[in-house]
Amino acid sequence: MDVHETEAIILNCRDYGESDRIIAFYSETAGMLKGIAKGARRSKKRFVHTFEPCSLVRLTYRARKGLVWIDACSLVEPHLDLRVDVKRWGQAALVSEIMLEMVPEGEPQPELFSLLGQTLDHLEKARDAVNVVLLFLLRFLHIMGYLPSLERCEVCHRPLKSATNWWWRISQGVLVCTEHRQANGDHFLLDLGSLVLIHQSRRFSLTNIWRLHFSQYRTVPLLNALLDWVREHIKKDLRSLRLLEQLGSA
Ligand SMILES: [Zn+2]
Repeated sequence: MDVHETEAIILNCRDYGESDRIIAFYSETAGMLKGIAKGARRSKKRFVHTFEPCSLVRLTYRARKGLVWIDACSLVEPHLDLRVDVKRWGQAALVSEIMLEMVPEGEPQPELFSLLGQTLDHLEKARDAVNVVLLFLLRFLHIMGYLPSLERCEVCHRPLKSATNWWWRISQGVLVCTEHRQANGDHFLLDLGSLVLIHQSRRFSLTNIWRLHFSQYRTVPLLNALLDWVREHIKKDLRSLRLLEQLGSA
């Protein structure tokens, strides 16, 4: 079995049997990985506090069919500040859950690894954490190929600059002008300013997107509309979102 070494971010960890743990990671070089750490529940020495969700770690593993075999794991960045703020911790859990539900195994995408790492860094310190989650989700959907072009009206091809209000039919992935909005469609209202920000969220280099700021009263409706689409797409609820709703900070 080949031995691999990579940086990775822990998405979740659960006990398995009497002494093992099963861990899901997003790794820099191999993408989504699920692995087993033999004896991790017993051996305090080999895997000291390294399997906490959201931790950035350096991982040594052997590839096998199914679960990889984790040989060693050392902590690089534990994101401790996230753990002391229950809302931000919930938002980080939401980001991790979306990755787990939507990213297939075995397709390395280094930009996704960077996006996840930078999202957790910014969730730790940004003033507006909801804006960080929204920027994560927009860039994530773009990288995954789910964000439509949103360049013009799907029906009349009128360009963006010709109107201030636009309607995004998120479930169909199309944008229409007010004239071509259907009476009973599931349209989400987007003003031109928000559309420009969405375009920038995918065109800017990753390190620059965090400067983008949706106005506060637009962030939550847009994020909720996108999360509705995610739930429809994965055909199930997001557990961490329910938790955030209970905390009153969805
Ligand atoms: Zn139109």
